[in-house]
Amino acid sequence: MLQKIKALASQYAAEFVEVRHHLHANPELSYQEFETSRFIQDKLKEFAIPFEVKATTGVVGLIEGKKPGSRIVALRADMDALPIKEENDIVYKSRKEGVMHACGHDVHTTCLLGAAKILNELKTDWEGTVKLIFQPGEEKNPGGASLLIKEGVLEKPEPSSIFGLHVHPGLAVGKMSFRAGKVMASADELYITVKGKGGHAASPHACIDPILIASHLIVSLQQIVSRNNNPHNPTVLSITSFQGGSTTNVIPNEVKLKGTFRAMDEEWRFKAHDLIRKMATELVNSMGGEIDLLIDVGYPSVYNNESLNELARKKAEEFIGAKNVEETEARMGAEDFGYYTQEIPGCFFRLGVMNTKKGITSGVHTPTFNIDESAIETGIGMMAWLGSSVNFS
Ligand SMILES: [Zn+2]
Ligand SMILES: [Zn+2]
Repeated sequence: MLQKIKALASQYAAEFVEVRHHLHANPELSYQEFETSRFIQDKLKEFAIPFEVKATTGVVGLIEGKKPGSRIVALRADMDALPIKEENDIVYKSRKEGVMHACGHDVHTTCLLGAAKILNELKTDWEGTVKLIFQPGEEKNPGGASLLIKEGVLEKPEPSSIFGLHVHPGLAVGKMSFRAGKVMASADELYITVKGKGGHAASPHACIDPILIASHLIVSLQQIVSRNNNPHNPTVLSITSFQGGSTTNVIPNEVKLKGTFRAMDEEWRFKAHDLIRKMATELVNSMGGEIDLLIDVGYPSVYNNESLNELARKKAEEFIGAKNVEETEARMGAEDFGYYTQEIPGCFFRLGVMNTKKGITSGVHTPTFNIDESAIETGIGMMAWLGSSVNFS
C-alpha cells in the first residue's frame, strides 16, 4: 500500500503543483472562499467523490473503501487566505490586490485534494471510510471548524480520529514534525475601554485621566501572568493597541485598549478571564474611572492525543524515514483545529517547506512567504497514507 501511494504521489505531483498555483493566484479571505469552494467541488466531481457543502463554503467529501464502517478517519485542510499584499515575484502571484495565501492554506487544500484522488483510486485496496474536510475561515473568529462542527461534520459517520497538517517554514522540505499533548494555544481577544473625564491638561485635579488609569491597568494585568499563573503553564497576555488622546494639552475622555490572551490549559484560561475582569474593573473603579471590557473567546488550544500522535509519527517514519521526522516545539499561536481536538482524538503536524539554498525561508503571514513545492508530493502522500492505514479507536 505504501509503495502504491508513493508511486501515485510522485506521478500526480506536477498536476497538484498546478492546482496549488491556481489556488495561490486566486486567494480569498475567510468566509468568502466561494471560488475556492467551487474549485474543490469541481475537483471532487472530476474524481467522482461524493461531497456535501457545509457552512456556506466548506466542502465535506466521503470516500468509502472496503468495509466502510470498520474505521473512519477524517482529514482536514483549511482554505482561506490573508489580507496581505504579496511581494513574491512568481508567475502564480496573487491576482487579488491585498489578498494572499500567506499561511499556506493553498498548500493544505492541494495536499488534501491530491490525497483524495489517490485514496479514491486505491479504494479497493484499503478498508474503512475517509472523510475529507475542506474548511473555511481558519484565520478569523469564530473559526470555520466551529461552524462545521455545529453543522455536524463530525457525525454521520463519526470519525474516530482527525488529522491536519500545516506548512512549517522553519522546517526543511522533506521533513515532518510532531508533538504530543498541548501543541498550540487558545487565543482570546481583549477589548477594553477605560472611561474617565476629559478636560484641560493643566487641571488634572478636575479630570479623571484615562491615560494614567489605562497605563496602570496594562502593568497590573501582567501580574496575572506572573503572580497567579503557575510558571510551568505557558500563557501570554499582550496589550497590543493603546489609543486615546490627540494633543498635548487635553486629557481625553477615554482610552481604548486591545490585546490578546493565550493559554495552553483550558481550566486556567477561563480562570484567567475572571481574574482579568476583576482586576480591570476594580483597578479602574478605584482610580475613579469606568470600564467596558469584552473578552472575545476565540479558538481553544490544540491538543494532540498522545497515542494518536505516536501512531501518526510512526506512519511518517515509514513514509519519509525516521531521520526526516522531528519533534516540534509547542507554540503560542492558535489554530481552530483545536475545536476538532476538543471533540475527537486529533493530531496536527507540520510539513517542512523551507529550502535555504533556494532562499525559501520567509515565515507564514509575511508578504514573501512561499514553499519549496516538492513538499506537495510529501504532503499528498502522507495524507493518503494516514487516510488509508490509521486504525485508531
Ligand atoms: Zn495563519
Ligand atoms: Zn494557517
